[in-house]
Amino acid sequence: MGQIVTLDQNMINMIAAGEVIERPASVVKELMENSIDAGATKIVISIEDGGRKLISVTDNGCGMDSEDLTLAFDSHTTSKIKRTCDLRGISTLGFRGEALASIASVAQVRAVSRTKDSPGASCIEIDCGNKSSIGPCSADYGTTIQVRDLFYKLPARRKFLKTANTEMGHITEHFTRIALAKDDLDMILHHNDRELYRLLGKQGIHQRIAELFSSEFSENLIETKSSEKGLRLFALLGKPSISRTNTKFQYVFLNGRFIRDKFISHAIKEAYRGSLEPNRFPVVFLFIQMPYENYDVNVHPTKIEVRFYNANLIHSQVLGTLREKLLGTNLQMQAKLPVATAPAKAQKENMPATHRRSQEIADAMAEFFKKHRPIQTQQQLGPAPKKRFVPLHPAAGQTTKSQTVPSRRVGTNKFLQIHDGFIVAEADDGFIVIDQHALHERIIYEDLCRRIQKSRLESQKLLIPESFQLTDTQADALKTNAELLEKLGIELAPFGPKTYAIQAFPTLLAKVAPLDFVQDLIDLLTDKGLGLDTEELLDEVLNMAACKAAIKAGQKLTDNEIEQLLADRERTEHATRCPHGRPTTIRFSITELEKQFKRT
Ligand code: ADP
Ligand code: MG
Repeated sequence: MGQIVTLDQNMINMIAAGEVIERPASVVKELMENSIDAGATKIVISIEDGGRKLISVTDNGCGMDSEDLTLAFDSHTTSKIKRTCDLRGISTLGFRGEALASIASVAQVRAVSRTKDSPGASCIEIDCGNKSSIGPCSADYGTTIQVRDLFYKLPARRKFLKTANTEMGHITEHFTRIALAKDDLDMILHHNDRELYRLLGKQGIHQRIAELFSSEFSENLIETKSSEKGLRLFALLGKPSISRTNTKFQYVFLNGRFIRDKFISHAIKEAYRGSLEPNRFPVVFLFIQMPYENYDVNVHPTKIEVRFYNANLIHSQVLGTLREKLLGTNLQMQAKLPVATAPAKAQKENMPATHRRSQEIADAMAEFFKKHRPIQTQQQLGPAPKKRFVPLHPAAGQTTKSQTVPSRRVGTNKFLQIHDGFIVAEADDGFIVIDQHALHERIIYEDLCRRIQKSRLESQKLLIPESFQLTDTQADALKTNAELLEKLGIELAPFGPKTYAIQAFPTLLAKVAPLDFVQDLIDLLTDKGLGLDTEELLDEVLNMAACKAAIKAGQKLTDNEIEQLLADRERTEHATRCPHGRPTTIRFSITELEKQFKRT
């Protein structure tokens, strides 16, 4: 007898749900998109226990009559397309007719809806695909869909869900994308009876960005737009001062839909070339409008990717518009005075006012050149790792290029700093070339590891706490990782609505700007760190700390500093590799040299 059977419809829906409904955030996304397609101007979302217990979305859209309400939860039912030709030029967010059927096959769903011309509302309940009969009920115009106990009959999927905080982070991310894409909507988000966001459609995109992220974000954006060949762009470009360590804060929207696209990402990266250090990424909000017929949205189940029919045109227009604006804007003038750490401030307090001012300007200049100086390419010496340099002091890079630098002898060791990036030192059987940043990074990393194994890092109070804004997701990430922060010796305290202040900072990282560090730490905790266990996360953080605290490539060192580095090298266990595994030192033996010079 044959083995093959046709799957029943509920089974088909459950399989389809695996594609579109990955976690609570996917449900929230699909329901919000339906509300928008229904013409809603207000959406209220209530979540309990990170969406595990309840996801409820209420809108004031067109609603459904009882007949449509029953049909909406069947698979492949939609009001958005009718004929194959409708697939070309989809103007709605949904069209696959799968979401409601998928959601209802993996949870307990209650839906209440009322159209404008109906005297009352209808209500339907579905329990993992089993529909109860539809009945009348009382409700306002619009639709409410409540989804309870997601995946409760699928323990394997439920077990895969992360903590309420993590799931809420994903939900907030989808909420943010839609809030940015549709900035004329009133939107409210609750979690466990706490109101996280109340956004008003009249406030405009800048205020929305301030509420969703921070006022620092919204105050540091450059606006630009263009319109050519049916392609309209509107972009808010983050200044270098708010750049990040990853691309998480690059939001691209195509006709009101959040998308990810490698051509567009590449164009953004190219547009910022030279304005940012190679490992920094800009904050960008890019809104693209173009005819629906010019791309295909039916290529990905969650519609996050689209296929452009003319990707080159998009790439060149995005690159051209952004680059022109960035080059035409004097980003230098807007470089902020660096926030001084407490001890530095204390010293400055004792200086006369004029001296203090010039010191501040000098600091700002140094900071500016660190961040903005065009990148120079280094001449290679032997098989040293390829590396680019950003000279710290404007004059420093030039002297080494035009003059010969005398070698220095300390004790029995002869050494020489070249191109402000490498140290060449004599060794017993030849010489070594040291990558100053990589070696110092390794030394600090080992020191941090040793100390943190014993107890928490020693910290020192900041005389003036440094405050910063953060979103609820970021605040939650800090709470979840309270133990890690404590270990690091970072003390944070609430400092007003959505604002925290850094009260204390590790002594070992005295050279690192606390605000900069904490912001990058938050990025790590809310993004890359999500899948890591405690130990891996700590390692990532220590890596980051070591990299930030280490001497930079391009930094001129004094004899004493070089001596210290060489002495520390002797004491460090794995001095030959930096924490990322790159070599810190390359050795050349006399025998090798003699061979090269054909002496042997
Ligand atoms: P799709 O959005 O792809 O059409 P869904 O399964 O998400 O498929 O929804 C099925 C249909 O149910 C939609 O086409 C729409 O007609 C109707 N619908 C869903 N949500 C709402 C809502 N909030 N308000 C009005 N109609 C809705
Ligand atoms: Mg839909």
